[in-house]
Amino acid sequence: MDSTHIQALRIPRDQHPISRSQISPGTLKVLYTLKDAGFEAYMVGGGVRDLLAGLKPKDFDVATSARPEEVKRLFRSCRLVGRRFLIAHVRMGSEIVEVTTFRGAITDSHERDETGRILSDNVYGTLETDAFRRDFSINALYYDIRDYSIVDFAGGMEDLKRGVLRLIGEPELRLREDPVRMLRAVRIANKLGFQIDPATAAPIPQLAYLLREIPPARLFDEVLKLFLSREAVANLEGLRRFGLFAHLLPLTDEALEADDPTAAALVRQALANTAERVAKEQPVTPAFLFAAMLWPAYAKRVEQLQREQGHVPVVAQNQAAEEAIAAQQLRIAIPKRFSVPMREIWALQPRFLNRQGARVKRLLAHPRFRAAYDFLLLRAQAGEPGTGELAAWWTQAQSGQLPPPPEAPPATQETAPPKKRRRRRRGGRGRRRESGDGPGVS
Ligand code: ATP
Ligand code: MG
Repeated sequence: MDSTHIQALRIPRDQHPISRSQISPGTLKVLYTLKDAGFEAYMVGGGVRDLLAGLKPKDFDVATSARPEEVKRLFRSCRLVGRRFLIAHVRMGSEIVEVTTFRGAITDSHERDETGRILSDNVYGTLETDAFRRDFSINALYYDIRDYSIVDFAGGMEDLKRGVLRLIGEPELRLREDPVRMLRAVRIANKLGFQIDPATAAPIPQLAYLLREIPPARLFDEVLKLFLSREAVANLEGLRRFGLFAHLLPLTDEALEADDPTAAALVRQALANTAERVAKEQPVTPAFLFAAMLWPAYAKRVEQLQREQGHVPVVAQNQAAEEAIAAQQLRIAIPKRFSVPMREIWALQPRFLNRQGARVKRLLAHPRFRAAYDFLLLRAQAGEPGTGELAAWWTQAQSGQLPPPPEAPPATQETAPPKKRRRRRRGGRGRRRESGDGPGVS
């Protein structure tokens, strides 16, 4: 990462396609305010990259020579966030613009752990040192608010033209500094439809295990960016190809590796549905995503706990849910506000089997009915045995006129204790089976 050999390229306003009208008003305001106060200010990162690639940026990032405290003084609504590196969040109406002070060059004074990961990072620098601290060449393009030119230190314009995602500097070193860059490589390459440069890609499989060093809360954010996205399916494939996925969702990875076609179909279908919703700007929730990702492992465990340990369904379901969530939390910190509804989605699945009068109405009125029903549809779409007819029944049930229950169970079994497994077999679709023997339908 020796910056001294590299000549910065300046692309004047009339030789690139970015116009101010494509930049959000809040970002422009921040850039001009910084400039007018005598600081250098650039739009950088995904905003510049996506505009040059013809995409609509998700957000805009600003890099400046102003220190965080100076940024804070200039804006009425500004919060400093981040521990490793302070970032100013400037609020402009409904927009939040992320403003970072130029980072200094990496030196031996940076505290690292034994794998090479940078732990403390609060040295400030210049535009040039900042450029070489960025991850990929196409993320190190700076739009200068003074003359609307673009500054390119790392060959980003050329890489954009070639459709290549390339780490700046020595790839292995840069990946060790921050292993999350491996995830970013997969995500950004898929977002742009770019190839990952072979030298950038080569060390990833051997370094994938370094994801274990990353705090689970940070991985939660990254995983959402990967999967609550239009490229969710391609991201899954990319992560698996590089051996990254096993370090994020080990239970899901196991289910996929086990070559279980229904599990694979369910996970893929969940991601495809999510991608479609994102494309249509419909809401998506991490609760549903994780419910789907962990369902194959959960369902298998519920079945196993009943078969091997003779647990009644509800006990097996609770234990399996607890185990799956606890195992997942070791890698990705799923906040309670998502893990609780996720468990509810699972817990409601067997209740779809109950299609008698009052129970149907109660389930239809359940606050989590919609999510649970969508999940049932997902299982049906994935071809999980027994779910197709059930999903169709519940679809009809919502139209206002209840379809007839599949069969009337003997009234005496209404309160029968759920214990004798043999009776269910003899009686075919008996009451107890309908009240949730297994994770869902099995
Ligand atoms: P998007 O916003 O579309 O997810 P982005 O590249 O803008 O993509 P951000 O997380 O917003 O991603 O980061 C803004 C910029 O900060 C990046 O473009 C890159 O220059 C720099 N950056 C972000 N994360 C890292 C990292 N882990 N290592 C080095 N530079 C990074
Ligand atoms: Mg960004």
